[in-house]
Parts: sequence; structure tokens; C-alpha cells
Amino acid sequence: MNVKTYLFDFDDTLIDTKIYVEIYQPILDMIKEKLKIDPLEKAKELGLTKNKFARYDTGDLCAELGLLEEYYEILEKEIKIRDVLHDNIVNIFKKLKKDNKIIGIVSNSMRRTIKLYFDKYEINVDFIFSKDDADCQKYKDEYWQVLIKKHHLNPKECLVIGDHQHDDVTMPKKFGFKTMLIKNPHELKNILKN
Ligand SMILES: [Mg+2]
Repeated sequence: MNVKTYLFDFDDTLIDTKIYVEIYQPILDMIKEKLKIDPLEKAKELGLTKNKFARYDTGDLCAELGLLEEYYEILEKEIKIRDVLHDNIVNIFKKLKKDNKIIGIVSNSMRRTIKLYFDKYEINVDFIFSKDDADCQKYKDEYWQVLIKKHHLNPKECLVIGDHQHDDVTMPKKFGFKTMLIKNPHELKNILKN
């Protein structure tokens, strides 16, 4: 397989999202205290949807409520004390760079969030494409169209790696990308076999 560009999903592919379980209640408590509202009721009212773990995305909720600074204050503290990067990522990225490959991050997360993790682990990639860049998430065609255009990609030469069947496989395939579904972070090392 002649892959030039490796496009990694972020949550649950590169990082362990248990960190969001840890901050879930503290964030809800913070919203309750600041705005004197029931945060879960508000999330429902705003039309936010729950993730596969039956939780709302507290980052999205805080963005809607104008509490992003408060959100990042809590998240940043947790990122500092918690080991969140899956094993081997640093080595895999180093090896890919040595082979002159391009590494991109293709994520539904906010750019600022991704950068926080990369700063902690001193990781450099060629580009980060977040939902802020696409103005939508991966389940929409526009996400992939904007990605291809912005980074001048030839999908046939790109491998999308992620943990979500629809977002990381079905959608990119539709646009001609090669894909690899990761069910367990240990499978990431298989990338180097390509
Ligand atoms: Mg993911």
C-alpha cells in the first residue's frame, strides 16, 4: 500500500478518553454554580446528543453556554496529572516521520483541546484538522470535502486511522480514502506494516 499521508482520529485512537469521565461531574457542577441552571436539562434543550457512553460532550455544552475558559481550566488541570496518550504513539510518529510520511490529525474535537495534549507530550504533526476547520463533524460530507481541499490531499494516498466505524471508515471511504479501524490502541503498531 503506497501511503503518503497518515490521518489519525484523536479521541479513543490516540488518547484515552477516560479523562472526560473524570471531569464530567466537576464540569456539570461548575455550570450549575455559575449559571444556576440544571446543566443536563439545558443540554437537552440545546439539542446536544449523548455519546456512546450516554454522556454529553461537556466541551460542546460549555461552548454553547459561553463557559469555555472555565471548561479549559478544569480540563487543563486534569491533563497535567493524567497519563492520557496511548502507548507507542510517540514512537510510531517518529518512525513515520523518518520515512518522510505526512501526519495529520482529523478529529471532531476542538483544536484547542488537541493542542493541549500535544503540548504536554511535545508532539508535532504536519497538520491538525478539527471540527473548527470544517465547521461541522465527520458524519457530514462537508467535513471531508473541506479537509481534502484545505490540505490538497489525494485520498488514494491517504490512510485514515480511527476507532469509529461510521466516522472513520464509512465516511472517508466514500471519498476514496484508505481506512483502518482500530478496536484496541495496541493495533496502532500495525500501521508501520503498511
Ligand atoms: Mg475516536
